[in-house]
Amino acid sequence: MRKVVLLGASGSIGKQTIEIINEHLDEIVIEAVSVGNNIEYLSELLKTYPIKRAYSITKDEKLAAEFKDIEFFAGEDGLCEMLEGLKYDLLINALVGFVGLRPTLKAIEDGVDVALANKETLVASGDIVMKKAKENDVKIIPIDSEHSAIFQALQGSKREDVKSLIVTGSGGAFRDLPLEALKNVSKKDALKHPVWDMGAKITIDSATMMNKGYEVIEAHHLFDMPYEKIDVIIHYESIVHSAVEYADGSIIAQLSNPDMRLPIEYALFYPRHLKRNSYSHLDLAKLQKLSFKEVNYDRYKLIKAAILAGKMGGNMGAVLNGANDTAVALFLKDKIHFLDIEKVVIKALSAAKYIKEPTLDEIFASNIWAQNYVKNYFNAL
Ligand code: MG
Repeated sequence: MRKVVLLGASGSIGKQTIEIINEHLDEIVIEAVSVGNNIEYLSELLKTYPIKRAYSITKDEKLAAEFKDIEFFAGEDGLCEMLEGLKYDLLINALVGFVGLRPTLKAIEDGVDVALANKETLVASGDIVMKKAKENDVKIIPIDSEHSAIFQALQGSKREDVKSLIVTGSGGAFRDLPLEALKNVSKKDALKHPVWDMGAKITIDSATMMNKGYEVIEAHHLFDMPYEKIDVIIHYESIVHSAVEYADGSIIAQLSNPDMRLPIEYALFYPRHLKRNSYSHLDLAKLQKLSFKEVNYDRYKLIKAAILAGKMGGNMGAVLNGANDTAVALFLKDKIHFLDIEKVVIKALSAAKYIKEPTLDEIFASNIWAQNYVKNYFNAL
């Protein structure tokens, strides 16, 4: 039996991970889980699986009284405390936000492989995380569909033969809107993603394509590839999840219906491609066509900003992340316009103090600084 810890169990990726685990209960056992505030869901999980440790942001005394054999953790350091001394084989990190960073590092330090869906881990601290993973001989297995596709397309190849990584993106809710029209788009418009059904934050990040910018930074770290060798291309149908171009001109892509359960399952069982029960196979004949388009970087300024932040490295990923988080939150509260997001993120990047080799504390501080920068910027207007 493989013992796993699932962080972020009540989120979209977390719940789909549970679905996959349910199909493989003869192979996988959940040792510990974390949720945010969804105590009801945590209670359901504790009733269903032989879980030993559980985390929620605030401790629920009623739950603790009901499940006396389970160790409960809460609070800021609770996630790492929950991992301390635990024997397990894989950390599935499906947390959203900076809170995902320290548990990833904790698992790496303990020599445990990480299946990673948490973006902040690599966007903000990719240098530290990948260096530690190498030192501890730990595998970081991507869950995100694009990185899973690249990871699959790289299997069995030599890194020096790779010409470029091709990251595909849907282009988000406004991909067909004229540039001038972007000024007046509403929150409701932005939340209509053409293909994927995701949370509000990531759907906005998809509309601005900041999400793609993050994914370029993640790809750089995960696959140790210079930014010059990572391309982004718009792909309408979200069937080609990304690709690798080799020196001989071969492009190897991974295709499937857009369903996150596939990359989750691959991350859990890599390098195996297991028989699929619960989701549909892709029918190429039915699909008939795949379409692609070049990215217009004037329209998607945040991809460029992200690549620039990535190239600078240091604390700039943390600044990028903090500024964007706050800007998107303000947009979702109808406080700022859609195009204000890119404007303020770019301003934050140029205003930030650059730290070339930041400590983890400096990374956290840079993130907070950027959040405050964005808040103050709009308060001052
Ligand atoms: Mg993605």
